[in-house]
Amino acid sequence: MSIALNLDHACAVRPAALGRPSLIGLGKPALAEALVGAGIAEREAKMRASQVWNWLYVNGVTDFGQMSNVAKPVRQLLADRFVLDRPEIVSEQVSSDGTRKWLFRFRDPANPNYPPVEVETVYIPEEDRGTLCVSSQVGCTLTCSFCHTGTQRLVRNLSAGEILGQVLMARERLGDFPGGVRPNDGGLVPGGESRAITNVVMMGMGEPLYNYENVKQALLIAQAGDGMSISRRRITLSTSGVVPFIEPTGREIDVMLAISLHAVNDDLRDVLVPINKKYPLAALLEACRNYPGLSNARRITFEYVMLDGINDSDADARELVRLLANIPAKINLIPFNPWPGSNYGTSPSARIERFADIVNKAGYASPVRTPRGRDIFAACGQLKSETERLSKRDREALAG
Ligand code: SAH
Ligand code: SF4
Repeated sequence: MSIALNLDHACAVRPAALGRPSLIGLGKPALAEALVGAGIAEREAKMRASQVWNWLYVNGVTDFGQMSNVAKPVRQLLADRFVLDRPEIVSEQVSSDGTRKWLFRFRDPANPNYPPVEVETVYIPEEDRGTLCVSSQVGCTLTCSFCHTGTQRLVRNLSAGEILGQVLMARERLGDFPGGVRPNDGGLVPGGESRAITNVVMMGMGEPLYNYENVKQALLIAQAGDGMSISRRRITLSTSGVVPFIEPTGREIDVMLAISLHAVNDDLRDVLVPINKKYPLAALLEACRNYPGLSNARRITFEYVMLDGINDSDADARELVRLLANIPAKINLIPFNPWPGSNYGTSPSARIERFADIVNKAGYASPVRTPRGRDIFAACGQLKSETERLSKRDREALAG
């Protein structure tokens, strides 16, 4: 059973204040610069930026009026120049297993006439963790043949503020900010944790390494110890294999890496994950071996979707083990999640067990990822929004 909440009451839906830029997503130095640009004295800017940062990321305020340690005239000045917008909630669905899926809508404050875009964000509560699955793009330019997002033409990259906006809005809805109210359906806060959201995975819509700068900026802000303070060991970035950005991801963002492998030879991977034609398996695995900070305590997760009769034979399992032999790795087997119009079937559970067995015997703990939120189409690879790319003529007309 799934419950769809209709959220058209005013507090959840905040129309963007158009024409003013948002302060969400600026690093601290850029935030201080923006304050100077608004007329705040240079000597005061650093201190004010720290105060604003704390209100935004620790306390989760959405209104300059709530920033009680900031002098009133400064609050007014900021409110006249900037916004602190979060996405509007188009819908919030709760699965029978507690998984939640939001459809978020973003407007571009700098381009008031530009049509809004929509993305999906998913929250998965488990016994020992609560994971937020965040989108990096509206749609995806890549066309992995088993992925629903791949059927949606790329509309655009999300900004750092929009990536963080998903985390902020989810934290608000889950009552994760000080004084927040938890939803009244229990089971959300994992054992031993004080926060509902303990982990973040860049596994929603889009290819994060095709939006590298914005994803980097957002994840550095999410990690900051004086802000949201989500440990970089609890942030995972999943890529289909954009090889040139794998090393910078480890060096500059320093988060856990997941690779969407899905096939053990180039011929099949070219079909399932077409970016393989550009960056074949040998190059991808070489980049993995060189991932900064890689060690047995900090392994790469290899995701492997189980497609009936396509990539799920015993020989595939043995080849998988052989390929990963000298990489500190975890293997995550994902039963294929079907979507309307998909051309693949899910491997039968006996086949998945046999495959997992071979992988386990080779020394890998290879959890089979239980699909979550299937009843609300929130499982891996099922995310897609209705947003369509504008034609060139429409874009030109809007740009005036
Ligand atoms: N673009 C990135 C991150 C988003 S996809 C990437 O491809 O890694 C997150 C994971 O879901 C990827 O491993 C992806 O291959 C997998 N996936 C996509 N469609 C799926 C489906 N229908 N069933 C199961 N997993 C799927
Ligand atoms: Fe894009 Fe990842 Fe889906 Fe491939 S699996 S189409 S890279 S979102």
